[in-house]
Amino acid sequence: MKKLCAISLLLVCLLCGCTESVPAEREIFAMDTLMTLRVWGDDTLVSDAVSEINRLDALLSVTNENSEIFALNRDGEAELSADTYDLLVKAIAVSRRTDGAFDPTVYPLVVAWGFTKDEQHVPTQEALDAARSLVGYERLLNRLDVTCVSFDGRIDLGGIAKGYTAQRIVDFLRSKGVETAFLSLGGNVQTLGSKPDGEAWVVGIADPDRPSQAIGCLRFSGSLALVTSGGYQRYFDENGVRYHHILDPKTGYPADSGLASVTVLAHDGALADGLSTALFVMGMEKATALWRESDDFEAVFLTEDGGIFVTEGAASLLRDCEFTVIER
Ligand code: AMP
Ligand code: MG
Repeated sequence: MKKLCAISLLLVCLLCGCTESVPAEREIFAMDTLMTLRVWGDDTLVSDAVSEINRLDALLSVTNENSEIFALNRDGEAELSADTYDLLVKAIAVSRRTDGAFDPTVYPLVVAWGFTKDEQHVPTQEALDAARSLVGYERLLNRLDVTCVSFDGRIDLGGIAKGYTAQRIVDFLRSKGVETAFLSLGGNVQTLGSKPDGEAWVVGIADPDRPSQAIGCLRFSGSLALVTSGGYQRYFDENGVRYHHILDPKTGYPADSGLASVTVLAHDGALADGLSTALFVMGMEKATALWRESDDFEAVFLTEDGGIFVTEGAASLLRDCEFTVIER
């Protein structure tokens, strides 16, 4: 009897060891990107997480004809679910903080440049002016009701939706008792807890000139969101000029701030995502000024001329490259 107990105990230990060191893993395509989910826990939780990602995608997608955002953009008004409303409010908060560098009403410009349909082209000045006249998050401020939005512009949450989704998944997993998870939703990485083997998480920062290679990596333990925005992620060339997908709402053109990419580290996924887009538009000087008056994010800036600049709080995490520390 004693022996049997010992054997079953060993089995339990072995099983526990298995779930602790080998995560349940899933790769899916959603929100227009490849996503990887690794959860140290029950496989059904990964399935639940995938369902939640697909549900949010179906609400927030700008191109899915059944989404709430599509309905709002088509009809000029729509009833919004609590999720879509919540994200819109978060998006506007980032717009306010960044003086409109992040702007969820940017969609007419995204369309003018053809970035939604893979029909990218430089728009005519008339098309740009017409699009710009519809852009401006301030125009949305008194249009927002808890259940219904009416708006004559058009909304694109593509600069913040993946980060929001990653945060939602991490919150869900945590509520189910999961202690460790790793999510990679396109350029958005979010971790929950520390690795069971005690090793650090290691997340590479893509080299803008050779995105399949890393210029360095961030090593850290615990829960964190890391989001990169870069001109190299989506672009087209016309007459020898490169045009990328992150637009400066003030000029209507692709942001030209001297940055090749920005990686934001924060504890909230939506904030990290919104800010990475915004800081890329703002450029290093304004972005650094914002960082100095904030205490909820850190950043790694890669400049177009090859420089690497890191805010003080992230400097100790960055390895395998030479960089300049930005001090408070
Ligand atoms: P991200 O990769 O998170 O920086 O988001 C880029 C996407 O956000 C683009 O493909 C557009 O759909 C949208 N976008 C472009 N420019 C802006 C902007 N200034 N503010 C908010 N969203 C933007
Ligand atoms: Mg973003």
